[in-house]
Amino acid sequence: MRFHVLTIFPNLLESPLQEGIIRRALLAGQIEVELVDIRDFATDKHTMTDDRPFGGGEGMVMKPEPLAAAIRQTRLKHDKIHVVLLSPQGRQYNQDVADEFSRLDDLVLVCGRYEGVDERIRQHFVDEEISIGDYILTGGELAAMVIIDSVTRLLPGVLGCEGSVTCDTFSRGGIKYPQYTRPRDFEGYEVPEILLSGDHQKIAEWRFVAGIKMTREKRPDLLAAMTFSKKELQVLKKHGVLLGTKCEA
Ligand code: SAM
Repeated sequence: MRFHVLTIFPNLLESPLQEGIIRRALLAGQIEVELVDIRDFATDKHTMTDDRPFGGGEGMVMKPEPLAAAIRQTRLKHDKIHVVLLSPQGRQYNQDVADEFSRLDDLVLVCGRYEGVDERIRQHFVDEEISIGDYILTGGELAAMVIIDSVTRLLPGVLGCEGSVTCDTFSRGGIKYPQYTRPRDFEGYEVPEILLSGDHQKIAEWRFVAGIKMTREKRPDLLAAMTFSKKELQVLKKHGVLLGTKCEA
């Protein structure tokens, strides 16, 4: 999968791309990340990429010409391409959107700065706007990195242990069970006995129930949208977790 990040600050992404799983995915050729400097598409002698807003007011707005030229060039180089404008006004990014993006060949991430981009770019040059949350960042670069990171780990073969993607929080709609490692006794706090039993079936059942309990406690909104098989409902009932009128999957 190829990511194309259009930005006036390409250096901002250099460091996070050079660590951990993302670095490994790049070296293995599982992903490519092209950092496109929007300034290279500015035509005036000062390579200006922003200007004052028509109608007056605070701040600067990103000019349409360099952005349009950068998007056009990227579209020309690749056939099936999805162009996303990072914006606090966009569709809310979540695990489902990450999953959707992980099936693309080419994803373009357009990073705004200042007061944002000229509205004509949003209307005529991008496929959609994506927001990573209801807060305002100084620019789209960190949002682009969030998307690159969360999509990359879903690509086949990127994570050493494939299973970790399917057990993750959100993968079934709820929260992942709690996890422990050595020591067994940490300052008097013990690891749940069942995890030391070696009984894989009982451990799986404990984890399932613990995950549902945690979802109920931390994110009841997620639990409301989850469905369960008859067997799972029986297991939950056995462990005293009553979900009211919950439907079967
Ligand atoms: N004036 C804009 C508004 O009120 O909607 C906010 C502009 S913000 C300071 C500058 C740039 O940061 C945006 O153009 C966008 O690319 C990026 N950005 C800010 N918050 C974001 C968010 N929550 N999700 C994605 N991108 C964001």
